[in-house]
Amino acid sequence: MREAKSGTPFVWGKKASIDKVLFSLMLLCFLVISAWSRNPVSLFGDLSVKNKRIVDKNGDPVQLRGMSLFWSQHGHRFWNANVVKWLRDDWKIDVIRAPMGVMDEEGVGYISEPNIHKTYVNRVVQGALEHGVYVIIDWHDHAAHKYTTQAKQFFSEMAQEYGDTPNVIYEIYNEPEYVDWNTVKNYANQVISSIRAHDPDNLILVGTPEWSQQLDQAINNPISGTNIVYTFHFYANSHSGIRWQLENAIGKIPVFVTEWGGCNYDGNGYFNTGETNNWLRLMWDNKISWCKWSIMAKDETSAALKVGASSQGGWTSSDLSESGKFIRTYLRGNTKIELPICQERPKGIRLYMSDKEIHLFTGEGAVAKAATLYNLQGRNIVNMHSAGKGHFTIQRKALKPGVWIVRTGEQAVKFLVK
Ligand code: MG
Repeated sequence: MREAKSGTPFVWGKKASIDKVLFSLMLLCFLVISAWSRNPVSLFGDLSVKNKRIVDKNGDPVQLRGMSLFWSQHGHRFWNANVVKWLRDDWKIDVIRAPMGVMDEEGVGYISEPNIHKTYVNRVVQGALEHGVYVIIDWHDHAAHKYTTQAKQFFSEMAQEYGDTPNVIYEIYNEPEYVDWNTVKNYANQVISSIRAHDPDNLILVGTPEWSQQLDQAINNPISGTNIVYTFHFYANSHSGIRWQLENAIGKIPVFVTEWGGCNYDGNGYFNTGETNNWLRLMWDNKISWCKWSIMAKDETSAALKVGASSQGGWTSSDLSESGKFIRTYLRGNTKIELPICQERPKGIRLYMSDKEIHLFTGEGAVAKAATLYNLQGRNIVNMHSAGKGHFTIQRKALKPGVWIVRTGEQAVKFLVK
């Protein structure tokens, strides 16, 4: 305004208006860019367990989706903040998992080189804090109970360092191999105490026997404590036969699928997109969080990257393997599920509508334990569980007039509510 006195008021006034407009445009651009940067942690906040599910800061069930890095002994070149940022921005992850190798077959890992592996973990955690991503600190071993003393020390340090942040999730036993549940529990109780001495509330994940597949043992004999979650792992080309373990756990214990792949359990073999979609749909329907194995450049089906991919992110399509392309596409695009294909005469489903209720009977093939109701936008409206006879009831007044879809297993049927 001072300059306006010595110049032409009209001109300087106009200049001030232009400046204001330019400033407003810059502010708008900044706000738009800020809004575009996803920040899952500010969105969901502190996680906890409520009604046997993982919930967000508002107490609403939440599904976190993301990627696991690869064993720290071999995959550490990707353990950095640039990769975390790239995966958040380009792959739209909510969570990253840092599988810190404890002791591999060559005797290498945290036990032999604690400071090196702790440095790798800290790099990933710092990246996650900086970029608003959840991070799982994973004690990656098949016989973790043999290193209870070291695990207690390590997680005590992590809890002191990061227990006040909403980002950090502790995974204290990756995959108990030939270890019974009581041994896992005994180990878990000790490590949980070490964490809870410094951090009363962040999620603690515990593996289940036989490579984290025996959820039923945890259902029958759960660990007492706050915000304890159990882990389940599957590889889609090997493990269709244990999907019942995950289905059976829904509503009984909270579960986080911290590791899964679309191929064989050894990371190789055929990438089975059909079975992968079945698992993804089950996890989507029930808001079960997951991390896919893995961010690694290796000639292996489960590795998302091709050999030679940059250690800092910025990957193009030619850097991604078949499984890498699949999961990036899913993470970026899948905000609603594909509508199930409806059959004219679905085998094993019978639907009866009375004035007040809609009854769904299953059982001609196999008695279904769960069914899902969708609207025509593909949004899952209700998950229904049957006590065992495969009979589900929906109150008719709960549904607006229109077309609805109900699915159980691979069978789906449309029906019209007038
Ligand atoms: Mg805390």
